[in-house]
Amino acid sequence: MAAAMVHPGAWPAARPTMGVTMPNPREEPPAWSELDDSLRAALRFLAYECDDPGPVPEGPALLPRQEGLDGEIMPRMTVVLDLDETLSHCRLEPLKSLQPDFCVHFEESKATGYVYVRPNARLFLEVASRLFEVVVFTASSKSYADQVLDQLDPDRQHISTRLYRQHCVERSGAFLKDLRRMGRRMDRCLLVDNSPVSLALCPDNGVVVSSWTAEDPDDKELMELLLILQQCDLEASVPQFLGRRYGLRAMVELLRRRPDLLE
Ligand SMILES: [Mg+2]
Repeated sequence: MAAAMVHPGAWPAARPTMGVTMPNPREEPPAWSELDDSLRAALRFLAYECDDPGPVPEGPALLPRQEGLDGEIMPRMTVVLDLDETLSHCRLEPLKSLQPDFCVHFEESKATGYVYVRPNARLFLEVASRLFEVVVFTASSKSYADQVLDQLDPDRQHISTRLYRQHCVERSGAFLKDLRRMGRRMDRCLLVDNSPVSLALCPDNGVVVSSWTAEDPDDKELMELLLILQQCDLEASVPQFLGRRYGLRAMVELLRRRPDLLE
């Protein structure tokens, strides 16, 4: 929670460095020297700490068997969503200018967390769950995440599976999300996350959303995301579409050849 740092002057608000509406870095490379520190660190991690995803981990799939698959050529697309700074934002002090949507309680520290729901998050979940299999995968603890998800999806109608920190893969101190463990076809599965680090094991299947920290009440990222998901759903292959649209793997490969870009 609350990990993202905000640098209001670092980039024009209308064009986040990384997010659903970002240009393809091959066509319009980011201004490397203007990246904020957290994004610079995330890209360094992707390029230099995690150059090999390793073999597909053994063990049971994280998602239950998809029903109605027999004879189906094109299964429902599986959309795996991050929670913090993607669907909601939790902070230990409430904002002066905005009432939180609800509070959570941290068992260990006995602290209160003030939670803000990203604009359109509930509508997004409602619409997306009609079209896709919707899963939430957070690197946060189960006790915290369940308090937030019980508010976002109180009747458990929209999010079919909840995955938590214990389902992540730890590497070099970071919690990564390995889509290959879902038990879904990789050409019909994608991960949406505000942190590029989470996508390290599956850059071809990742969509980076801008980090939302409750400062922008007019944020439209989740509606933009819905449009991209609908386009993606019409394509034969999720990674082919996302590779064309965002080129994350190509960007990481460029950074490996040109480490000077992030210096
Ligand atoms: Mg996040």
